[in-house]
Amino acid sequence: MNVTPPQLLLVDDREDNLLALEAVLEPLGHRLVSVTSGAAALKELLANDFACILLDVQMPELDGFELAELIKQRERSKHIPIIFVTALSKEEKHVYRGYAAGAVDYIFKPFEPDVLRSKVSVFVELWEKTEQLQAQAEELHEEELAQLEQSSAERYRQLADAMPQIVWTTDPLGNGTYYNRRFLEYTGLGPSDLDSAAWKKIVHLDDLPAALAKLEAPPEDVQILEEEARIRAADGSYRWHLGRAVPMRDEAGRIEFWIGTATDIHDRRLIEDQRTFIVAASDALSRSLDYRETLRQVAQLAVGEVADWCAVHVVEQDDTVTEIAMAHTDPTKIAFARELEERYPPGPEQPMGAAAVIRSGESELVPEISDDVLERIAVDGLHLDLLRQLGLCSFMCVPLKGRNRILGAITFSSSESGRRFDADDLLVGEELARRAATAIENARLYRETEERAQAVRVLATIGDGVFLLDRSGRIRLWNNAAERITGVSEQEALGRPAAETVPNWARVAPRVPVAHAGEPARAESVPLEVDGRELWISMSAVGYEDGTVYAFRDLTEERALETMRQDIVSTVSHELRTPLAAIYGAALTLRRGDIDLEQDLRDKLLEIVAEESARLSEIVNDLLLASQLDTGTLRANIQECDPLEIAQLELDAARVHLPENVELVLEAPEELPPVAADAGQLRQVLSNLIENAVKYSPKGGTITVALRPSHHHVRFAVADRGLGIPSSEQRKIFEKFYRLDPDMTRGVGGTGLGLYICRELVRRVDGRIWVESEDGKGSTFFVEIPLESAVNGHSGRRRKAAATA
Ligand code: ADP
Repeated sequence: MNVTPPQLLLVDDREDNLLALEAVLEPLGHRLVSVTSGAAALKELLANDFACILLDVQMPELDGFELAELIKQRERSKHIPIIFVTALSKEEKHVYRGYAAGAVDYIFKPFEPDVLRSKVSVFVELWEKTEQLQAQAEELHEEELAQLEQSSAERYRQLADAMPQIVWTTDPLGNGTYYNRRFLEYTGLGPSDLDSAAWKKIVHLDDLPAALAKLEAPPEDVQILEEEARIRAADGSYRWHLGRAVPMRDEAGRIEFWIGTATDIHDRRLIEDQRTFIVAASDALSRSLDYRETLRQVAQLAVGEVADWCAVHVVEQDDTVTEIAMAHTDPTKIAFARELEERYPPGPEQPMGAAAVIRSGESELVPEISDDVLERIAVDGLHLDLLRQLGLCSFMCVPLKGRNRILGAITFSSSESGRRFDADDLLVGEELARRAATAIENARLYRETEERAQAVRVLATIGDGVFLLDRSGRIRLWNNAAERITGVSEQEALGRPAAETVPNWARVAPRVPVAHAGEPARAESVPLEVDGRELWISMSAVGYEDGTVYAFRDLTEERALETMRQDIVSTVSHELRTPLAAIYGAALTLRRGDIDLEQDLRDKLLEIVAEESARLSEIVNDLLLASQLDTGTLRANIQECDPLEIAQLELDAARVHLPENVELVLEAPEELPPVAADAGQLRQVLSNLIENAVKYSPKGGTITVALRPSHHHVRFAVADRGLGIPSSEQRKIFEKFYRLDPDMTRGVGGTGLGLYICRELVRRVDGRIWVESEDGKGSTFFVEIPLESAVNGHSGRRRKAAATA
C-alpha cells in the first residue's frame, strides 16, 4: 500500500508564533509547512494535501475565519481538520464563529504543548486512517477489476470456443496466438500442433499468398480484412471459407493483434462456381451451330471446374455411339485413357458409363469408386490394374435427352482432386446436359431447316408444279411452276382450300391416287380447265403425316403431239393403203385366167398400177425427204436458175394430169432475173403448191401461177379458187404432218408433208413462203426466192420469158 506521509500546514502572520508552533509539533515527526498569510496558505492547499491545518485567527488581509471558510468551500480541502490557535478571542462569539467556519478545535494561547501535540496527533491519525482506508479501497477496486477482467477473458474464450466458426488471433505480424476449439475440430490438429504458424499450414497453398499479403500490409485505417480461401479439413479435403480479420488497436491506434474468423462458404462457392461454369458452358453452346466443336469446348470447361475428367458421347444417325470429346488438364493422362479404351473398347453391353446411360436414359452417380466398382467394369486382371492406375475416385454420367430420344451422354470423373460427386453435383451435370441437348437439337433443327429451305428453293425452280395440302385441305405450298401452269399466283393460293383454288379440283382430286410416303406414286392424266382452255395434266400425290404433296406437269403439248403422231400414223397408212389397194386390185384382175380381158381394160389396169406406184413412190419420197430435212442430211445445190423456165416446166408437167374442170394459167413478165436456188428443189416446191391448188379445188376453177420480180427476189404466187384456209390455221399448215382435215371428211387425202417440205426447201435458199386465204374463197401461196444477183452481189442477166415457153 502506498500512503503519503502526513503534512501539517501552519498559518500565522507572525514568524515567532510560527517558530513556537513548529517547536511544539516537531517531535511528532510530521512534515511542517509554515506560511505567514492566508493567500500563501491557499496556494499551498492547491498543491498539497494536509493532515491538519493550524490557523491563527487575527491576520491582516484574510483573517483566519475567512480563510477557513474558503478552505471549507473547496471540495479537495473541505475535509482537512482546522484548529484555530489564538491568544485573543476567547469570547463566546469568536469561538462560535470559528466552529461555524469549520474548525474542529479552538486552542488558546498560551497552550500546553502536550495538549496541542496530542490533539494534532489525533487528527493526523484520523487522516492517516482515512488515507489508508482509501488506499485499501483503491487496491481492492483494482483487485476486483483484475478479477473481473480475468473472468471476462475466460468468458470470451468460452464464447470463442463455443462458436461454430473457426476463430483465432494473431499478433500484428500474423503469428497465431490463439485457436478456438472449432479450429481444432475442423483441422484435426492437436494442441501440440498449435504453434504460431498453425493457421498457415491449413490454408490451401494456392490461396495462402493472397491472405498473407493482406495481413502483412493492411491499409492504414483498415477496419476488416476479407479473403476467400480453401482450408484443409481433418480428412485432407479442402473446403472454401471466408476469412475475416479484425484489427484490435491500442489507445494510440496501433494494431495490437488480429482476431480472425473463418466461415464455411464451400457450398455457396461451389454453387457460384457451378453457376459460372453453367453460364460459360451455355455461352459456348450458343455461340456456334457446330455442336461437336462446342461440346468439346464444354468438356474442356468442365475440367477443373467440376471434374478432373470430362467426356462427351453422341448417338449418330445410324445409332452408333461416338465419343466426340475427352478432356483432362494433363494430355499424357488422356493418351493413357485412350490407349486403355483402344485396348478394351467399351462395348454396348457395358454395365456402366455412357453406353449404359444412353441405353437407359437415366443418370448414374458413383460417389466413391471402390475396387468393387472397378472389378465390375474390368474385363481381366490387366484391365483392372490399368483402371486402378487411372486413380478414379468418383464418377457421374448424365444423358443428353432430346425431345424424342437420347442424343448422347456427358461423363464426369474425378481423380487427383479427390473430389466426391454428390446429388448436388449431379444436378449441375444434368443442367449442363439439358442445355447441351438443346444446343444439339437446335443445331440439327437448323440444319434440317436449311435443308428444307434448300428443298423449297429447288421446289421453286423445278419445272413441275408442286403444291402441298394440309390435313384440312388448305394449300400450304404452291411453287412457281404451279403458278405458271395454272395461272393461280402463290399469294392467291396459300392458305386457301384446294377446292377453291385448283381449277376443277372436285373432279380432279378423286382421280389422283394418293400414295403412302415411301411408296412409288402413280401419275394420272387429268384435264384441268384454265382460263377457258383445257390443259392435260399428269398429276401424282404422296400422303405424309401432315397432309398430301401433289406434283403435276402440263402434258397439253405432249398430248397434242401424241394425238398428232397417232393421226400421222393413220394418215400415212391410209395414204399408203389407197394406192396399194388399187395396185393390188389391178394386179389380181390382170392375173385372172378365167376371164379374157380386153386390151383396153388391160391397158387401163396397167396404167392404174403405174400411176398408183408413182403415187406410192411420191409418198415414200416425201417421207424420205422430210426425214432428210429433219436430220439435216439433204444438200441444196444452189445455182443460178431461171425462175421462168422452172415455172414453165412445172406447169407443163401438171397439165398432163389436170382435171377437166381446172385451168392452169401462167402470168409472168417476158424476162426475169435469175434466182439462186436448187432447180430441182424449186420445182418440187412449185409442184407441191400446184398439186395442192388442184387438190383443194374440188369444184375446179382457174389456178394462176404468177411470177413477179423485185429488187431482191422473184415472187411466185400460186392462186386457186378452192376451199381456202381459215386464218387461224394458216401458219400451222406448214408444220410437219399437219392437215386441216385429218379425217378426210372432205375426201381429199394427203400426208401433211407437202407444205412442210416446201417451207424447209425455201428456207434453205433464204427465201420465204406464206399463204393468204379467205376460208371458202380460195388461197394464194407466195414463195420468194432471192435473186442470184442479190446473193452474189451483181446484177444478173435477164432472160426472155418466151425463150422456154
Ligand atoms: P397434204 O396436202 O398432203 O395434206 P400439205 O402439207 O401439202 O399436206 O398441206 C397441208 C394442209 O394444208 C392440207 O391438208 C390442206 O388442208 C391445206 N392446204 C394446202 N394447200 C391448200 C390449198 N391450196 N387450199 C386449201 N387448203 C390447202
